[in-house]
Amino acid sequence: RVVVVGSANADLVVEVPRRPGGGETLIGSELRTLPGGKGANQAAAAARAGADTSFVGCVGKDGNGALLRGQLLAAGVDVTSLEEVDAATGTAIILLTPDGENSIVVSPGANSAFDRAAAERLAPVWRSAAVVVLSLEIPHETAFHVAASAAASGSRVLLNAAPAIAVRREVLQCCDPLVVNEHEAREVLGAAENDPDASDYARLARRLLLAGARSVVVTLGADGAIVAEGPAAAPELVSVPAYRVEAVDTTGAGDAFVGAAAAELARGCSLLDAVRFATAVSAVSVQRVGAQSSYASRAEVEAFISE
Ligand code: ADP
Repeated sequence: RVVVVGSANADLVVEVPRRPGGGETLIGSELRTLPGGKGANQAAAAARAGADTSFVGCVGKDGNGALLRGQLLAAGVDVTSLEEVDAATGTAIILLTPDGENSIVVSPGANSAFDRAAAERLAPVWRSAAVVVLSLEIPHETAFHVAASAAASGSRVLLNAAPAIAVRREVLQCCDPLVVNEHEAREVLGAAENDPDASDYARLARRLLLAGARSVVVTLGADGAIVAEGPAAAPELVSVPAYRVEAVDTTGAGDAFVGAAAAELARGCSLLDAVRFATAVSAVSVQRVGAQSSYASRAEVEAFISE
């Protein structure tokens, strides 16, 4: 079983002709409210990939909370450990501008209520999982506590260190794998802008192993991903190319990748095979609009792979 411990957000999306300045009011498009949040997206992707999946997290007692619960259920996710708290459901306010550089404000809301005590209350759920998936839109200390405790009780811990922060060695030592994009790879290491390896992702992957991670996946958008495993002194590094597709919306591609990889690891696949399948799932997702709504079923992904 896959258990995703993480965030759930309502994404409030408005298209605007440009970013408003201070004191300015702009008229935007009709509001779209879409299910999002890294944790919820990853859980939806894992369930769509065929894994028995539970989501552990918090929403508010409001309409957005009900929407998120409904969307997770529709994707096949077990939501019996989705708690309702006295705070607004996490929200991302997303302004889509024609330059493609979207502006986003996140109000964590109920996700902030997911403290260590809440995690402990729900421990029977995540401690028995084959794979526990964590990301960092919940309080970091909660995520790190779950990582340590789940790893100690024999679960495989996949940490998606997003949004990026520097991560200490004891936490990295629980990660099998650590999954990061290009920017997060640098941030986790605390690498400076002028670091000589700043855009050498194979070297950054190796440094993440040296920093303690048991295995590492660095995702590189349209350039695919690098998988690093084995002893840090002599690691095996494999580059997995992305599929060449027409990308229409890359929102949630990284979450599709994480959820699908977790599903494959829970089935007992090797990390490399899991990354290959996740690469196909995310290639399908970038050809469709939205995050959770763009995640394909296992049958659709298998058809895409054999095309
Ligand atoms: P994030 O959204 O977290 O930054 P990435 O952009 O690295 O993550 O994307 C995750 C994975 O999704 C990549 O490793 C790749 O397999 C796939 N992907 C992303 N963008 C594209 C694209 N334009 N074409 C094909 N695959 C893509």
